[in-house]
Amino acid sequence: MPFPHPSPTPRQYGSAFQRWLVIGVVALNLVMVTIAVQSLLASRERAIAQAGGNAMNLAALLELSVADSARRIDLGLLSIVDVLESLGSERVLTDEAIERVLQQHLARHPAVDAFRLSNRDGLLLWGKGVDRQAPVSVADRAFFPEHQAAPGQRLIVAEPVLGRVSKMWVVAFTRSYRLADGSFGGVVTAAVTLDHFTQLLRPLQLGAHGFAAIHHQERALLTRYPALAGAAGEPGSRDLPAEFVAMLDTRVDSASFQSSHPDQRQRFYAYRRIQHTPFVLSVAIAPEDYLADWHREIRHTLFLLLVFFVATVFAAWMLRRYWWQISNQTLFLDTLIDNLPLPFFYKDVEGRYQGCNRAFERLLGKPRSEIVGKSVFDMAPPAIANRYHEKDAELFARPGTQTYDWVTSSGDGVRHVIFHKATFLDADGSVAGILGGITDVTEFKRIQEELQTHRDNLEALVAERTEQLAQAKEAAEAASQAKSAFLANMSHELRTPMSGVMGMIDLVWRKTADARAREQLAKAKQSSRHLLELINDILDISKIEAQRMTLEKTAFRLADVLDNLHVLVAHRAEEKGLALQLAPLPEPARAVLLGDPLRLGQVLINLVGNAVKFTESGSVTVDVAVSEETPEQLTLRCTVADTGIGIQAEDLGRVFSAFEQADSSMSRRYGGTGLGLAISKRLVELMGGEIGVDSEPGRGSRFWFSVRLDKADAAGELAANPQETAETRLLREFSGARVLLVEDEPINSEVSCCLLEDVGLVVDLAVDGAEAVAMARANRYALILMDMQMPNLNGVDATRAIRADSLNSDTPILAMTANAYEEDRQACFAAGMNEHIGKPINPDLLFACLLRWLGRRVTG
Ligand code: ADP
Repeated sequence: MPFPHPSPTPRQYGSAFQRWLVIGVVALNLVMVTIAVQSLLASRERAIAQAGGNAMNLAALLELSVADSARRIDLGLLSIVDVLESLGSERVLTDEAIERVLQQHLARHPAVDAFRLSNRDGLLLWGKGVDRQAPVSVADRAFFPEHQAAPGQRLIVAEPVLGRVSKMWVVAFTRSYRLADGSFGGVVTAAVTLDHFTQLLRPLQLGAHGFAAIHHQERALLTRYPALAGAAGEPGSRDLPAEFVAMLDTRVDSASFQSSHPDQRQRFYAYRRIQHTPFVLSVAIAPEDYLADWHREIRHTLFLLLVFFVATVFAAWMLRRYWWQISNQTLFLDTLIDNLPLPFFYKDVEGRYQGCNRAFERLLGKPRSEIVGKSVFDMAPPAIANRYHEKDAELFARPGTQTYDWVTSSGDGVRHVIFHKATFLDADGSVAGILGGITDVTEFKRIQEELQTHRDNLEALVAERTEQLAQAKEAAEAASQAKSAFLANMSHELRTPMSGVMGMIDLVWRKTADARAREQLAKAKQSSRHLLELINDILDISKIEAQRMTLEKTAFRLADVLDNLHVLVAHRAEEKGLALQLAPLPEPARAVLLGDPLRLGQVLINLVGNAVKFTESGSVTVDVAVSEETPEQLTLRCTVADTGIGIQAEDLGRVFSAFEQADSSMSRRYGGTGLGLAISKRLVELMGGEIGVDSEPGRGSRFWFSVRLDKADAAGELAANPQETAETRLLREFSGARVLLVEDEPINSEVSCCLLEDVGLVVDLAVDGAEAVAMARANRYALILMDMQMPNLNGVDATRAIRADSLNSDTPILAMTANAYEEDRQACFAAGMNEHIGKPINPDLLFACLLRWLGRRVTG
């Protein structure tokens, strides 16, 4: 039963987390901005306050310095007045004395450009640069009447004027002096150039836009530093900020105010009256200058805020990425665990479930909300819970993995399960809990048991079948052996009488002179030859079918094979008046070859025999060509062409099948078994070649086949003189030689005896192997002819005995047997025989064979 999952989807998780992250970054940055703004505002206040204070202090210092300078000039004036008044009372106030006094004081007061003295009418008659002829009057100056009114009382500092004598902007410091009678005597003036005051302002550092200025309290400008271009900056200018004018009117000693006069630039002004003078001092500073540091601070703070912002965004981004990875992993793990088909859970070190998958929920029959946070004690009876707990305790005691079988009994009966558990670690490397999976093997156990039963049954069954098979195999082998033995026996049993019949016919035919009798004998011989052919063919084909046909591999010459062919077929062709043409062999085909000459001959005899048989007139041509040659092998292509009846197109495909004749009516006319071509086809294929036929009915047939033969490196025996027959050579060369004929069958022995004696040999006859051995021990023979199957001692054993111990251990021994099987032949050679002659005996082959072996000795 599936339980609902109340947890939010991954998408919901993701967007909530991102929202919080954005809020966090924004809040953090807002806090930082607020702090920065607060601090900047405070810092601005401080900067302004400090600048204001500085300006005020500077103004105070400057006041001292200007006041001091003014006082010294005044002291100079006082001293002059003193000296003049005392000279006056002593009645020695002469022009020279006055000039001297003024000069002395001028030398003492560098700030003063000129001391001058006027008479009581205001005419400047004494002092620097005075023109006595055309004296300048100061009677019109404001200070003059004031001095007149109260002589000797006051210092009056005039507003700056363009000096009438010096033609320079000067400020006149004036005092009056009294005559001896105490009446007004005139005015002493000290002309102070404005430059003197400018020099006092010069050391101040007020920034690029700040300045200091000294005004006369009647508003005229004395000096401003730095100087201001234009009319407002000219000495005497009365162009003043309204705030300044207001201050002048209030008559306060010191104050400060803001003004944007005269260049629309807002400035802070420290305003101060200079004590004991009619001067007012102002120090102006511009926010651009005194807030320059603060502006720098703003820029730094902005930069830091930006850095902070980028850092928090980056941190948030990293956090989000990291969170994304972790939540992806977690999701993946959750999904993985949840979809495991096996129940899976994990607990903390207290044994409380921390999580599980759906399979576990299903197993317990509870949703995970009822599992997580609980321990087994909350869910199982105490006895069972204790057993679980012990297992967990074991694992905690030895952290690692734990696997054990468990049997539970729940609602659906007894279940066999396997617990796989492992401890897991937290990031500190200490054991944080246990995770576990449960495999239910109940079904597996059941199948295993079932399988075991099946296996046991199967083994019994296999044993039984094996036994049956072994029996069947034995039976089959026995049957196969019986068949082989039967074939071998048939071969012998059929051929032996046949060779007797044919031998006798041959013998009688040789001795008979009566033409009619000879003709009858020839017919008899023809019939028996046909019968023998049939027997041979049936044996061959059954050997081939039983896959018992093996080919020999001996050295031979193709020429010999063709000679034999000629010997066997020529007379038949001759009888029918056909021309039998054997084309000369091409050069490579003259070499000594390796193969089975008998079987190759058999195929050729078969094809040429058929050609002769099915041709009434014309010729039979045999042609051998080399179609392929390698250093080791030759492929021969033999063609047998005739001018006979040919084969209908529809019959062409069947002629190579066993027991098929192109036209069954033919067999009655031409005889034959229908096996020849089938045997030839199989033999050719065994020799690695193909066979085929082209034919035109009524005009002739062309049979061809190919065989692949190895080349032999040793030269074979020399070919006999083709002109002389074997018979005549035997008579000429070996007449009187003594041979031993071993043959138990009387008819066969008579036939053989006659053939041997016909070619002039002296024959001793032994009727079984034992007698043969005895005779071989007594006499020495030129050659021994040995039958194979005999009573008492067979041919093979007799040969061994003769080879082992007799006078004929090196005499050629030729086997005569109807057994055509390869293994029989092998047995002959193994026993020490030298050649094998098939029965019934063909006189021509016998003679060729005798010729080969007579006069030779053989080595063991
Ligand atoms: P058979 O013993 O009957 O000759 P074969 O297998 O040798 O058996 O030949 C099968 C048949 O092929 C023959 O019966 C004959 O009809 C046909 N045949 C074989 N050779 C020739 C040939 N040279 N010309 C015409 N027919 C042939």
